[in-house]
Amino acid sequence: MEKVFATKPGEGQPWDVAIIGSGPAALTAAIYTTRGAASTLILGGARWGGQLMLTTQVDNFPGFPEGIQGPELMERMRKQAARFGAEFVEANVTAIDFDKRPFEIVAGENTYIANSVVIATGADTKWLGVAGEKELIGRGVSSCAPCDAPFFKDKKVAVIGGGDSAMEEVLVLTKYTSNVYLIHRRDEFRASQAMQTEILELEKEGKIKLIWDTEVEEMLGGEKLESVRLKTNVNSIMAKGLKEGKITDFAGEIIEERDGFIFWKMPVEGAFVAIGHEPATKIFSGKIELDMKGYVVTKNQPNTNIGNGIFVAGDVHDYHYRQAITAAGFGCMAAMEVLRYLDKQPPTW
Ligand code: NAP
Repeated sequence: MEKVFATKPGEGQPWDVAIIGSGPAALTAAIYTTRGAASTLILGGARWGGQLMLTTQVDNFPGFPEGIQGPELMERMRKQAARFGAEFVEANVTAIDFDKRPFEIVAGENTYIANSVVIATGADTKWLGVAGEKELIGRGVSSCAPCDAPFFKDKKVAVIGGGDSAMEEVLVLTKYTSNVYLIHRRDEFRASQAMQTEILELEKEGKIKLIWDTEVEEMLGGEKLESVRLKTNVNSIMAKGLKEGKITDFAGEIIEERDGFIFWKMPVEGAFVAIGHEPATKIFSGKIELDMKGYVVTKNQPNTNIGNGIFVAGDVHDYHYRQAITAAGFGCMAAMEVLRYLDKQPPTW
């Protein structure tokens, strides 16, 4: 029989630790806290698993030489945490009282109490915030190619962004359509070299088209997305190309030239926004220190202890690395500090 290291507290008794979140940081923390005999509650959210649930192949998580699908990796982490006795609740945390001891946390219909808390809520999709975008989400506008690409079979789609997320969206979409347009606001990508190489190769092979130095200004459509209104820096090579007739490559239409930009329209049925993420910290606002962008402030990184029994791990405080493996590392560190705080010893094997 499997060895369970941590069991549920008695009726009315606090959990040793409540972990808010269910990405690699949260689940790694749970593996360590349970193995350190701390009763562990994971408040994993209504849509559990974090960003890796929206990813396909993960090739950079050690231990999987052939790669692994993001959702499968998360399933495995969840099972591993459960194996040692972690309890998992699939409900969103809606309120938290850090002034009370034990802490009080409301999730779904229930209020839970815990002697310590690990904040590992990760980050959510960042949207462009342009006119029409919000109204058309789910009607052509998406932030998740692995979820929605099958709806766009053989259709014309745009991806917006220049980082690894945008490159990944393109790679997924090209499996369903050969009509993919990648729109980036600068003339070089932010993505990793490996991803850039793959994308530039696809362009060379004529499988995708790149739209440089261009921002999306508006998403247009009624019931469904029909086109995007774009603005391209007039001094760019892209603008020169558009003026010299390249606009037909995109089936686009120039609207006007004004204030240093060419404004134009391109018909598309899908637009995948992949411009990064925002920390999921709304419920903590005013309760713990957040920086200008909403990330949890830690003193002396990589310290995960923000004081008084509150710990933090993963993308919710780490703007810099934002990898599954670094989030997992932070989860481990936070858990070891939790165990120290609770005066328990983590097993070291
Ligand atoms: P990111 O690296 O921050 O890139 C965001 C991209 O969106 C940038 O190119 C940025 O343009 C652009 N952007 C931001 N705001 C914009 C706006 N308002 N309008 C137009 N464009 C905008 O974010 P990410 O791609 O989500 O990646 C985040 C982290 O996760 C990175 O560390 C990445 O390596 C990692 N990641 C890894 C994988 C993988 O390894 N398989 C997959 C996905 C993500 P500028 O370049 O001009 O700033």
